[in-house]
This record gives sequence, C-alpha cells and structure tokens, in this order.
Amino acid sequence: MPEMKECLLEYTREALVELLGSLGHKPFRATQLMEWIWKHRVPDFQAMSNLPPALRDALQARFLLRPLQVVEVSESTTGSTRKFLSRMQDGHLVESVIIPAAVGQGGAHSSRLTLCVSSQVGCAFGCRFCASGLLGLTRNLTASEILGQIVAAEEIAGERVDNLVFMGMGEPLANMDNLLPALTQIMDPHALNIGARHITISTSGNVPGLRRLAAFGRPLRLAVSLHGASDEVRSQVMPVNRKWPLGELIPALQEWNRTGKHMITLEYILIQDVNAMLPEAHKLARLARSLNAKVNLIPYNTVEGLPWVRPSEADCKAFCRALVAERVPVTMRYEKGHDINAACGQLRLRREQQRS
Ligand code: SAH
Ligand code: SF4
Repeated sequence: MPEMKECLLEYTREALVELLGSLGHKPFRATQLMEWIWKHRVPDFQAMSNLPPALRDALQARFLLRPLQVVEVSESTTGSTRKFLSRMQDGHLVESVIIPAAVGQGGAHSSRLTLCVSSQVGCAFGCRFCASGLLGLTRNLTASEILGQIVAAEEIAGERVDNLVFMGMGEPLANMDNLLPALTQIMDPHALNIGARHITISTSGNVPGLRRLAAFGRPLRLAVSLHGASDEVRSQVMPVNRKWPLGELIPALQEWNRTGKHMITLEYILIQDVNAMLPEAHKLARLARSLNAKVNLIPYNTVEGLPWVRPSEADCKAFCRALVAERVPVTMRYEKGHDINAACGQLRLRREQQRS
C-alpha cells in the first residue's frame, strides 16, 4: 500500500496557522494557503506561486489536497443525475451522486446543484433493504474524504454545489468525530461556504448522535429514515430500531424540534407487504403530526440479492393520498436515475461483487 498522507482539506484557518507556525512561518501564510485551496482550488502545492518554494516542498512531502481519485462516472439515461465512484488512498471505494435541480423549481430553497455524499464505507446498521448495509461497515470516512467528494463533484460538474444531502453510504451520526469538522469547513465562508439551511443530515435514528448534532447548534436540516411507524414494522427492516426504538427516537426528535428551526422530514421507503398497507399510513400520519414533520415517500429501489418488492404505482399513490387526507405534508420521490442504481451503496456493491 502506498504511504498514506494527511489531507489539508479538513484544516481550518486556525489549524493551518498552527501547522505553519510549527514549520516556522507567519500566520498570513495560512490566509494564502486557504485561498489557494478553496478559492483557486489548486490540486497541487507547486502551483501556489506566492508561497516560498521550501514551504511548498515541505507541504507536498507530508500532505495531500485531493484525497479521492474518481474512477467511474455513470450518467442516468433519464435525467441528468450523475453518480461517481472514487478510490481513496487505501483503495476503498466511496460513492456520491450529483443531482441538478428540477427545471422551474423556485422558492427560497431552490438550488442549482445538489450533491448526495457518503459518510462511511459501508454501514454497520444493516437495514434490510439497503445496499450499503449488505457488506457491513468497513471504516469511517475522514473529514477530508467527506469534503473531497464535494471538491470532486464541483470539478466534474464545473460549477459549485449549493445543496448538500448526507444520504449516500453510511450513517453520518455514527461518524460524528469526522462529520462535525467536515461541517465546519462546509459552512466556513472562506472554505465551501454552504449554509446550514442547505445541508440535510439523514439518519436512521442514532439517538446519541442526534443529541450531539443538536448541541452543535447550527440550523441544519434533518431527515429521519423511518420506514416503519410502529416498532413491530420498523424492527422488521431496521435492526437499529431494537437499539433505539420509537419510544426513544420520538422524544429525541421532539427535543430536536425545540432547538431546530426547520420541519423534520420523515423518509419512508414503500415496500410491498411490509409497510405499504393503508393502516400503516394512518399510524405514520399520527406520528408525523405529533412531530410536525413532513413525509417523503420513496418507492423501494430494487437491490440485487434482496427479496423486497416495490409496490405498484397505484398502491404508492393510494398510500400518499391517505396521508394527504390526514393533512400531512407529503412528497413522493421516484428515485432519479433508477437505471444507475441510484440508491445509496449500489454502485460500490456492484463493483465489490465483480471483484470477488
Ligand atoms: N444512514 C442514513 C443515510 C444514508 S441512507 C440513513 O439511513 O438515513 C439514505 C437514504 O436512502 C435512506 O433514507 C435510506 O433508507 C434510503 N435507501 C436505502 N436503500 C434504499 C432502496 N433500496 N430504495 C430506496 N431507498 C433506499
Ligand atoms: Fe446504513 Fe442508512 Fe443503509 Fe440503514 S439505510 S444500512 S443506516 S446507510
């Protein structure tokens, strides 16, 4: 394995000041370095023409600016969604999805480019419908590897990402030690400069992580992968529900509501004969109302090797109408780019299967 270098993307200005100080340089060099990294986006220390050559060499010997090497970009034939797979220094693969805004989308939260990022290689939570959980957890991503996905996406798309969703591989709240430093850089006006209101963290309901994220104190958006409105149904598809059942999750979400500024979104994958029956819609509506939350319905996306089935379109619509009838704000999202395995973890899963 090649030597692993540390990556500077996760260094805040303060951390750079300290690093440069230890190398015998003045704090203004940190400002110059920040500009090269985030404003000019140079991938290479030698391009930093106003830094002394000895400093460029010293940095190059120890650090990296691009922690990911993009190895595959696949385009969906239906939309303009692009999914890319990147290789990290240790050879592991991570995937991210670039999603352009729908034409004509307006309002205060309209965006031009959304990126779906991964937070871990694989996932330890093992939800029964999810490709990321199938192979278990390999490792956490570093803060720089999270940031590197955004930098890579902007290089692929040729424009800035202005909306971020943590809905790729992994459970972000199980990787708080890297998530929080990554968020700090993402929101820093001198780094990626994406506002908290444009960042959505999706969680399967990691209760201690939720409390830590609330204490972080930024107005981030929260999506909760619910997928079952009773412990009985939820535990069938999400083993995490046995650890943090609804009786613990719901109070933690009520607590979030007291500190958060936005409506929580409840994500609900519709799976035939599991959670898509109409009585479940009623339970879901009651739960959503108690949290003042909106619901996002996602017809199940087929994962090779898994037994679950997407309900018919008519059944999905009936479920959606039942929620509307109970005055719950609801959207239904047919995965863009079904043909490129748009659900999280599917591209990597295919690669790993080809390899073995
Ligand atoms: N671990 C976090 C974030 C990553 S999963 C979480 O679970 O929320 C991102 C979303 O993709 C989740 O809502 C997850 O339930 C959904 N997903 C996973 N597998 C899917 C599939 N086969 N079809 C549709 N959505 C899926
Ligand atoms: Fe992990 Fe989320 Fe997939 Fe569950 S849905 S296995 S928590 S990535």
